[in-house]
Amino acid sequence: MIDKKSKKFLKEYLGNASPTGHETKGQELWLDYISPYVHEWHTDVYGTAYGVINPGKKYKVVIESHADEISWYVNYISDKGNIHVIRNGGSDQTIAASRRVNIHTPKGIVRGVFGWPAIHVRKGKDANLAPTLENIFIDVGAKDKKEVEELGIHVGCVITYDDGYEEINKKCFIGRALDNRLGGYCIAEVARKLFEEKIKLPYSLYVVNSVQEEVGLHGATMIAQTIRPDVAIITDVTHDTSTPLIDAKQEGDVRLGLGPALTYAPSVHRKLLQLIEEAAQVNNIPFQRVASSRSTGTDTDAFAYANGGIPSALISIPLRYMHTTVEMAHFEDISHLINLISASLQQIKSGHNFKYFDR
Ligand SMILES: [Zn+2]
Repeated sequence: MIDKKSKKFLKEYLGNASPTGHETKGQELWLDYISPYVHEWHTDVYGTAYGVINPGKKYKVVIESHADEISWYVNYISDKGNIHVIRNGGSDQTIAASRRVNIHTPKGIVRGVFGWPAIHVRKGKDANLAPTLENIFIDVGAKDKKEVEELGIHVGCVITYDDGYEEINKKCFIGRALDNRLGGYCIAEVARKLFEEKIKLPYSLYVVNSVQEEVGLHGATMIAQTIRPDVAIITDVTHDTSTPLIDAKQEGDVRLGLGPALTYAPSVHRKLLQLIEEAAQVNNIPFQRVASSRSTGTDTDAFAYANGGIPSALISIPLRYMHTTVEMAHFEDISHLINLISASLQQIKSGHNFKYFDR
């Protein structure tokens, strides 16, 4: 399933920077890739992009992922020229020290590093100093604030890492922002599969890549109102809990390579979930199960609770080291997820009634 063409797209898509609020570049790459496989495509004012297959039908189904990646904002520049940051999304300060960064400025990318005091000079109470949001800083090699500003850096510039795609042990690959470019990649591949295999669907299918998930599901909230779909299948990533220092009893038992994970939660519609499980069983697609108390924390919640309720479900890709620069996924999980969405879409009928009960 992952052929040369799709791998080239995956690498390119993972390699671009699309920090929350600045997703345009990634969205353009994504639209370029899916446009041959959809009948029309659109964008909204905040940058959410979507392709439509069979436009104009009364019954509308969405498959969705989020396009944005976590990043940092320049928040304060000291007189000595050190740049202090705040989060844009759930960025992890514990992995910041010693990382190379790209600062996105009106004059283009400025390179910098998250500096850190050498082990030799960390003494006494600082011997075990750990990175916190208060003590991390970026150094761009400037002598003072004026020199920093001359480079084009100002408060509000966004900062990303540039760690890209790398294959590991043939079966796996690593990179940053696999959360959730992998979802965007998978729904694009679903569109391609439907097109290439000439699969006809009896409804309009919206293939949606939403912005601003990492700061509160905002792109999905906006686009759910715009499209007003009848059903939504969401893709995101979920934690592989088999690596050290994670309690699977708390976080659930999910592992790379055992298939996509289906979430059970109040916002996940039970009848839609059952349809997906049956599609998996009929097509021999392996899957894992996750339970979420209260919300799923994904765009699923935004769709489920929009417009008087949209039957929604969540299919996730197992992922190690979420929100680090070495997020790791398994090729087979990706293929299975693409097949599972495609199989599920073929089980949904036009006018499919998902009501739990009627009287
Ligand atoms: Zn995330």
